[in-house]
Amino acid sequence: MEGDSKMISPVLEYLERLHSKIADQLEGEVATYIPELARADKSHFGICLATIDGQLYEAGDTLKPFTIQSISKPFSYATALADHGYANVCQKVGVELSGDAFNAVSLDPKTGRPANPMINAGAIASTALMLGDTPAAKLVYMMAAYSKYAGCPLTIDEAVYISERDTGFRNHAIAFMLRNFGILEDDPVAMVDLYFRQCSVLIDCRDLAVMAATLAAGGNNPLTGIRALDEEHVASVQSVMGSCGIYDYAGEWTYSVGLPSKSGVSGGILAVLPGYLGIGVYSPLLDARGNSVRGIEVCKELSKYFGLHMFNVPHSTRAVVHRSYSGREVSSNRQRTAEEIEHLSLPSKRIRIYELQGELVFGTAEVVMRDILSIEDSLDYIILDMERVTGLNSIAYENYAERMR
Ligand code: GLN
Repeated sequence: MEGDSKMISPVLEYLERLHSKIADQLEGEVATYIPELARADKSHFGICLATIDGQLYEAGDTLKPFTIQSISKPFSYATALADHGYANVCQKVGVELSGDAFNAVSLDPKTGRPANPMINAGAIASTALMLGDTPAAKLVYMMAAYSKYAGCPLTIDEAVYISERDTGFRNHAIAFMLRNFGILEDDPVAMVDLYFRQCSVLIDCRDLAVMAATLAAGGNNPLTGIRALDEEHVASVQSVMGSCGIYDYAGEWTYSVGLPSKSGVSGGILAVLPGYLGIGVYSPLLDARGNSVRGIEVCKELSKYFGLHMFNVPHSTRAVVHRSYSGREVSSNRQRTAEEIEHLSLPSKRIRIYELQGELVFGTAEVVMRDILSIEDSLDYIILDMERVTGLNSIAYENYAERMR
């Protein structure tokens, strides 16, 4: 660049433009069911993007603290899956849309099982699965689990917690119903209390983006490098976010934004683009469904502008073979004995080398394997040069690479 002008990242430039375009929109209402949320500053508005390699792009009020509220739900569900496995967790909470409001009782009439972990009933059931012999131990465990996603120690807003606890009669009722059906095995008062503390965990917009990026990165926190969740559960958590994360706006959200997401009543929205990035938006003004008005707008615009919809998949299979050639086409500078030369020259026509590149997953490995199978009869040796391969998942390994050995 010439002179003193410094090049600014086009991502940051866009975020700042988007922020100032939407900053003046003050539609919506702050949540009023407890005084602490009613006092939220309507002007606060932050956007943060975190990539899976830890780059942060921020615009606006990304460091203003607010309570996590319902955005905690996928993380408690994730913790339950990690500690108890899907088979046990699904005895306690399903993965089906309830069609009801987030705070509806929505329990299966026969089993008492909550429809999904994104409604309060399912969230309280997930929270109760935190490891620990006492509620206090469970709380310590939960805070440690959440902090791994955020990449920094998190605390609880005591005033919000006390208000939630003292006014949350409906959540108390849900907890007693869960206890009645045996979905909760512990004291329902202690478990709903833990849920109130969970909703009162303080985060900021940057934390939201990092928590989302941790899911995007397959469970590994991109800032600390610490694993928060085993890869095998990441898709499960994103699935429930995808189907039930955004209250009864899920259909329109999937259509126009196309990212697994979770919103909360304090005005946060967290969205994940698997394999790439996490998005956090904070603005406390909510629409009638309880979603942040500016949060929705930001996610729609970001998705459209950067083409982030998860069903827009990169066409990566075409480029998996960097080069492919027969043994005859290569020569070596190495000095060899006459015997070696003779040995190598005989089958050289029947050797094929594949220089592969990028990620070997089902789609890309299938392309290579199909090509190999079509010429297999004419070959004695197949060499897979994996030097440019950046990753190999278990499907590609077991079905393809392992067979070639
Ligand atoms: N604390 C709130 C409740 O349980 C959380 C609600 C929310 O964010 N949707 O009612």
